[in-house]
Amino acid sequence: MNDQSKRVNDDLAAYWMPFTPNKDFKANPRILESADGLYYKTSDGRQVIDGSSGLWCCALGHNHPKVVEAIREQAGVLDYSTAFAFGHKGAFELANMLRDTMPGSLDHFFFTNSGSESVDTALKIAIGYHRLRGEGQRTRLIGRVGGYHGVGFGGISVGGMVNNRKFFGSLLPGVDHLPFPYNPDTMSMSRGQPEGGMHLADELENIIGLHDPSTIAAVIVEPAAGSCGVYIPPKGYLERLREITKKHGILLIFDEVITAFGRLGYASASERFGIEPDLMTTAKAINNGAVPMGAVAVQKEIYDTFMDETKAGVELFHGYTYSAHPLAVAAAIATQKAFKEEGVYENVRALSGYFEDMVHDLASADTVTDARNLGFMSAITFAHKDGTPMKRAGEIFQRSYENGLKVRMSGDHIAIAPPLNISKSDIDKIGEIMRKTINEVG
Ligand code: PMP
Repeated sequence: MNDQSKRVNDDLAAYWMPFTPNKDFKANPRILESADGLYYKTSDGRQVIDGSSGLWCCALGHNHPKVVEAIREQAGVLDYSTAFAFGHKGAFELANMLRDTMPGSLDHFFFTNSGSESVDTALKIAIGYHRLRGEGQRTRLIGRVGGYHGVGFGGISVGGMVNNRKFFGSLLPGVDHLPFPYNPDTMSMSRGQPEGGMHLADELENIIGLHDPSTIAAVIVEPAAGSCGVYIPPKGYLERLREITKKHGILLIFDEVITAFGRLGYASASERFGIEPDLMTTAKAINNGAVPMGAVAVQKEIYDTFMDETKAGVELFHGYTYSAHPLAVAAAIATQKAFKEEGVYENVRALSGYFEDMVHDLASADTVTDARNLGFMSAITFAHKDGTPMKRAGEIFQRSYENGLKVRMSGDHIAIAPPLNISKSDIDKIGEIMRKTINEVG
């Protein structure tokens, strides 16, 4: 059909933007034209620091030469390899690299194309695992208030962000939610892990107590929550979740879509906190965001259960046409090598104190009500303006972009999460632009 009368006649209307009101965007389009290292170049020719690593994914900054070259080379050798019943060498190489990177017995990797797909994959594996072991009644799932686990039906069911759920019907049955892992009265302005929140994990026992524990398949949490505003787990919290889940035979899934691959200065939050989940979901920085990709890391025992012929396993009836896509894999291998060759995680560890000071210096402004951080992830919450939580954070977001810094904004906070190979002087630049912006917005 080529009926012009039915066509939208506005160049910024036909693309239905994700999580973005088109109308607002049209009034104030932010078009990114090219990128290099720490910077984006905008369509009006300005250089803007990428203070949010794209959407938490460009860990090495943009257009990293090793990643670009790997994709370019792969595209001319094997563009697509047929995901089911066929393989390609890179997929096995990458899985082996990840096995050597991830803690303990998280040693099998299922490839997906996004964080949302990783989450739904992990939830399905958890339920399938119990069934294969003769515990088919274990189908209930436990997520957390404020949790973000992508936008698939599984992910929004266990997720706890109201707007992402409320339009979409009754979702998965049999889901409960842990309380929000933070108490602003006692934990605000904490540097790193707050104290005194263990009882928030004890709530898991209360939820389990409402059910027969043998009906619960898995608990899923972000070990450090990202999208709802960077909430770092209180000391002892994750340990307690691990203890309780183990006691009741419930699988623990860490959603590490943001935290895996260096954000906290380690290959995973699991390594950072010394707690091993049964499954771990990843995406984003796995290949520097250059081609869509995710991976689910699975403990050996779970994989072996699926492959055990005596349990009628052998096959997982699940997969994507683009699982382990050769271009995504090539980018991932190059990214994982660069993390090591360039000491990227070490850089985060070395500069996280400096980054923390920058964030908390900003938090001394009168309009800031809270600041939270660990590694290279941080958020600053602003006081409401004109009665709305969105107003001031929205103004900060827009004004900092005009001043040469792109940050992430959601509700009443902005998140700052720069590329992991950033230098001290670039952290200073972020601090200067934010300080100026906070003063200007008032
Ligand atoms: N889980 C977590 C913890 C995330 O932060 C995100 C994305 N921000 C997702 C899942 C979903 O990832 P994607 O947008 O790639 O589907």
